[in-house]
Amino acid sequence: MVLVVEKYGGTSVGSVERINAVAERVAASHQKGERLVVVLSAMSGETNRLIALANEIDPQASSREMDVLVSTGEQVTIALLAMALQKRGIEARSYTGGQVQILTDSVHSKARILDIDAARVRKDLEQGRVVVVAGFQGVDKDGNITTLGRGGSDTTAVAMAAALQAEECRIFTDVDGVYTTDPRIVPEARRLDRITVEEMLELASQGAKVLQTRSVEFAGKYRVPLRVLSSFEDGPGTLITHEVSDMEQPLISGIAYNRDEAKLTIRGVPDQPGVASQIFGPLSDAHLNIDMIIQNVAQDGTTDLTFTVNRGEYPQAKKLLVEIAGQLNAREVVGDDTLAKIAIVGVGMRSHSGVAAKMFSTLAAEGINIELISTSEIKISIGVNDKYLELAVRALHKAFDLQEKATEERLEGAKDD
Ligand code: ADP
Ligand code: ASP
Ligand code: MG
Repeated sequence: MVLVVEKYGGTSVGSVERINAVAERVAASHQKGERLVVVLSAMSGETNRLIALANEIDPQASSREMDVLVSTGEQVTIALLAMALQKRGIEARSYTGGQVQILTDSVHSKARILDIDAARVRKDLEQGRVVVVAGFQGVDKDGNITTLGRGGSDTTAVAMAAALQAEECRIFTDVDGVYTTDPRIVPEARRLDRITVEEMLELASQGAKVLQTRSVEFAGKYRVPLRVLSSFEDGPGTLITHEVSDMEQPLISGIAYNRDEAKLTIRGVPDQPGVASQIFGPLSDAHLNIDMIIQNVAQDGTTDLTFTVNRGEYPQAKKLLVEIAGQLNAREVVGDDTLAKIAIVGVGMRSHSGVAAKMFSTLAAEGINIELISTSEIKISIGVNDKYLELAVRALHKAFDLQEKATEERLEGAKDD
């Protein structure tokens, strides 16, 4: 019997009608003979609503209590789906993350999965039940409820698929696959039939919301066959592949963006060994995610360091950096929380030059100032003021001909090495 994990996101379970529609889909897969584990998100908007309630009481509420609160959204949808399945004559059981022992570390609001008790789920499956699991949540070794970060139900699903060695993990969402960029801001964006794990990882980590980054990491590490599909219409979706095909790879596969960025600069830091670690050590101890880091050439024995953080963590990061600056006798700390990040991603970059030049000239032609640049083997990422975000993404999508299908055309403008 084929074992499949299906995950339905917030919009897909956003109302009683949608939950009934999911029940129909699950029932169809069940009747085909598939053994099913279904992972659900909270109804769309619910997690934000819960966070807003907490903010009314205390914007600095403890992260432990935040997790107790925000994990409730998923408990509602799993129970409703189990009822909808039972109504259709299908035996189903819902479980919270703690009940199926999704064991995580204790970093509230961004916990990492350490282990899953697959035996318990298997037992239900063997008895012909559909197992419905709350996404986004787990439990630490002391029994505290934890959550996996926004969009974390994707990670629950892929981790579940890895633990159960499922045949496939299907991520059902409100788009019919992974696109060349977010179709909400570029209507000409094109659905990709397939994309490599490597590229998907870069796109996700650079902000393509369609899959949470950790879920792609899990898929890569445990070679989980992963597909993104629409819960609203039938279609092939996008397959996340583990092998790079022999065919010519497109130069650029996709563009990701993140408008929730901020940058911080510490000026006049002594230019000597150990300074970077004195700056980034405490930031890392506070679990702040640092992304791009730029250090200037030293002058007069001092240097400046700029880095980006998530906008939500900007106040905390700035406060900590001011303390660090005091200890290091640095001149000043300045920051800007109106930054957006845009990244172009493609394995084809490995064998072609001229990609960065084309990216920069495209932005120059639109009068967009680039504030930061960072690269990896298959990615070029830039920081710009967030008011230019949509203009920049549209211009780049066009410049790299992503709406076109022909690979050759996309290779134009970049010379072979
Ligand atoms: P769910 O609630 O199902 O988890 P999300 O809102 O988290 O759904 O993710 C789906 C959304 O991701 C889409 O509606 C789309 O706006 C956005 N998105 C961003 N980049 C991409 C991309 N490259 N391809 C498809 N969707 C994308
Ligand atoms: N409900 C959570 C969120 O809104 C998790 C998820 O939807 O994946 O982030
Ligand atoms: Mg999501």
